Amino acid sequence: MRFDEIQHQATAVEVLSRAMQRGRLHHAYVFSGPDGVGKGMVARALAMALLCQAPTEAGGCGRCGACKRATHQQHPDLHIIERDTNSKGELESMIKIDQVRELQRALSFKAFEGGRRLILILEAERMNVNTSNALLKTLEEPGEATHFVLITHAPHRLLPTIRSRAQSLRFKPLPRAFVAAQLAARLEIDATDAALLAGLAEGSIGRGLALADSELLGRRVALLEQIDDPDGMRRVPQLLELAEALSKQRDGLALLFHLLRTWYRDLAALSQGRPAESMVHGDREAAARRRLTTLSLKGILTRLTLINDAEQAVLEHTANARLSLERLLLKLVGQG
Ligand SMILES: [Zn+2]
Repeated sequence: MRFDEIQHQATAVEVLSRAMQRGRLHHAYVFSGPDGVGKGMVARALAMALLCQAPTEAGGCGRCGACKRATHQQHPDLHIIERDTNSKGELESMIKIDQVRELQRALSFKAFEGGRRLILILEAERMNVNTSNALLKTLEEPGEATHFVLITHAPHRLLPTIRSRAQSLRFKPLPRAFVAAQLAARLEIDATDAALLAGLAEGSIGRGLALADSELLGRRVALLEQIDDPDGMRRVPQLLELAEALSKQRDGLALLFHLLRTWYRDLAALSQGRPAESMVHGDREAAARRRLTTLSLKGILTRLTLINDAEQAVLEHTANARLSLERLLLKLVGQG
């Protein structure tokens, strides 16, 4: 992937390719923005541009050995730090300090090929304070021609000391029509389904693909009716059952939180007079207008905060998923 092959992230691409041409690439960048909008793609394009044996204005040539090794993530000067998998084949919840120490050992030697090195840290928000501090030492003294890219959808969760040492590049959600077209082509679905999926995906092709794969998508309307129910307090046992069933859907949980978040965002937008066409759950306009007769903007915003807090606790395994979901569902059906 060359820089000029990347669509819709013009700002990031321009900043990086211009910095490269002038020989002024920062030694550390934070790529932030929603998942699935091209942060990884731009990082890989940067890897090619940096490591290529015959770079052009558009970045790496894409044909030389270095470019090929970079593309296949087999270049010895391209280091990728990401969550390990455990013995059960599941992803660890956090990046480990040992991974950073191993990187430091590798960086203490000379670069193998052209002299430049790139370190990509994926899901950089998944480093605890100790791991972050270990990385900080390397960021402070990276060594010559060594560059870092930290990729994250949650830059506020990086240590301020790390953020202050890196140049921030924000990636925007992709246009809805572009996401819909990509999803329609890749999934071979019709335009109506693609439009709904693209709305839910909120500018992220990756999220759209994950949603399409999830059985939760087919249950979207039923789930929203069960979970955002003003009479829900009468059905506490059923809600607890639902929380338990959902808590076992490890892979589906991120999508569940996303469904809830987009629903309450729709309600907030409608309550402020935004047109129904902007809704993600556009097929539920009537239900949304009914719901607004019993729910204030303050209540909606409180619920959005509750959802974000529960999501962070559950996805980072800092809390028991079932208990967190129980608590969340009971609060969502509560008053106010
Ligand atoms: Zn090349």
